[in-house]
Amino acid sequence: MTAQLIDGSALSRHLRLEVAQRVTALKLRGISPGLAVVLVGDDPASQVYVRNKVQACQDTGVFSVLEKYDANLSEAALLARVQALNADPAIHGILVQLPLPQHIDAHRVIESISPAKDVDGFHVASAGALMTGTPGFWSCTPYGCIKLIESTGIDLKGKHAVVIGRSNNVGKPMALMLLQKNATVTVCHSATQNLKNHTLQADVVVAAVGKRNTLTADMVKPGAVVIDVGMNRNALGKLCGDVDFEAVKEVAGWITPVPGGVGPMTITMLLVNTLEAAERG
Ligand code: NAP
Repeated sequence: MTAQLIDGSALSRHLRLEVAQRVTALKLRGISPGLAVVLVGDDPASQVYVRNKVQACQDTGVFSVLEKYDANLSEAALLARVQALNADPAIHGILVQLPLPQHIDAHRVIESISPAKDVDGFHVASAGALMTGTPGFWSCTPYGCIKLIESTGIDLKGKHAVVIGRSNNVGKPMALMLLQKNATVTVCHSATQNLKNHTLQADVVVAAVGKRNTLTADMVKPGAVVIDVGMNRNALGKLCGDVDFEAVKEVAGWITPVPGGVGPMTITMLLVNTLEAAERG
């Protein structure tokens, strides 16, 4: 059996078209959705990420401001900038690109963002809202994974989902979102004994580890949905995920590729959250 590909690039294009349409409708009501992206320092990967985020805003008609600061910016100055953005009516979403330089307490900075503008979904209030099933912003990468799973048409209700990884940014919110969708959820991590025993029972596996070949074909139940969040480099320096794609696609029912799976969805869900922030007013 060869799995069907879950094309994150195509789904992203489709969702971004919807975003652009909703932006137009909002503008007709006199609201122009705005995202502020704050970058401190010159981390090369972060520079690429913020550029892509700003470009995605431009492509969909979302107003964006990119604030770039020297790596020496003080924590107090950054907190003051976030406060100013919290108070700015033209800005509906605030994203502070991580990692921040070591002298800045990233947690304090994220907590200083107004939860109403926390479109990255990293604020404790957003995490709490997800946990309690109340309105709030879902963090973009796991939210994108939910959209990818739903795009298969498979109803998560009653399905057994196994999440590999329990980070605050991906694994834990992923598990809570799957729970919210009425899946039965198992969370695995580095101390999990016999990972394969768990994954073999899964109708849906989400791998968010950051290690190549964490999920191999012998660990996958035939027909399962496999979502690969991992971003790693293989021996040739090529981008690859946590899943042994070539072998697993012969067993799984559905699978995301890397690149072209989860990756494009993360920025798309940032746009969706920004729009929602603007719609909520
Ligand atoms: P992280 O904070 O390093 O967390 C990795 C998780 O994997 C931890 O919970 C860890 O367990 C678990 N783990 C490590 N080795 C394991 C093993 N052998 N078996 C089972 N679990 C194991 O990483 P992250 O931020 O969640 O990111 C995970 C991957 O997703 C990375 O490759 C990252 O680059 C990628 N990512 C992609 C996107 C995207 O947009 N596509 C966005 C975010 C992240 P412990 O908790 O026990 O240490």
